Amino acid sequence: MQQTTGQNEDIWRWKNNTAKGYSVKEVRKELAGIIDVNAAPSSLEWSKIATAKVNLFIWRASEEKIPTLVALSHRGGQRGPTDCKVCGLAPETANHIIVHCPFAKEVWLHLWSWMIIPIRNHDEDMKTRFQEMSDWPRNKVKIIFAIHLLAGWHLWKNRNNKVFNNSLTNPGKLAEEIKEEAFDWIKLRSRHTGITWLEWRNFTFWNDPP
Ligand SMILES: [Zn+2]
Repeated sequence: MQQTTGQNEDIWRWKNNTAKGYSVKEVRKELAGIIDVNAAPSSLEWSKIATAKVNLFIWRASEEKIPTLVALSHRGGQRGPTDCKVCGLAPETANHIIVHCPFAKEVWLHLWSWMIIPIRNHDEDMKTRFQEMSDWPRNKVKIIFAIHLLAGWHLWKNRNNKVFNNSLTNPGKLAEEIKEEAFDWIKLRSRHTGITWLEWRNFTFWNDPP
């Protein structure tokens, strides 16, 4: 596995890429050499609804192993301020970008209200945010988890957009983009291929497990 630190959305490249790209199976096989994806209690779950790219990104982020300004400065590759480029209020760590940044907090508020799940402690860390599922409706846990992964990914892309293009959207618009992309995921990779946009928008759908 190799890491690149550019602005590309595809952060991960796989040594065993085939002409067609990589399959989830291959990624899991390769990951299994690094972590025990099934047994390690501190690891995040693998979401079958989310793409491999997003699963991997979130796992790395939860370990602070993505190229944030703080991570780069620890490696000696970054000089100068390491403050978050989105809010300017705190050092830019993965936990900050995805959970603690005021911008992220607003995005989460939009998403929690849409998913009709309780508001969380804004100070919790990323692992707790993604692993503590006891307040989520049982028949929607996998969907809600996938939405969390996608939100983390979009917050990182938003950060990259600010850092590299000096452009920033607003939290409400980002939340809408997350809803739209998650809708595609549900239609492609869950059992709910027939779900309508209206059902998805209202988050009032299905009673059986996904
Ligand atoms: Zn910030």
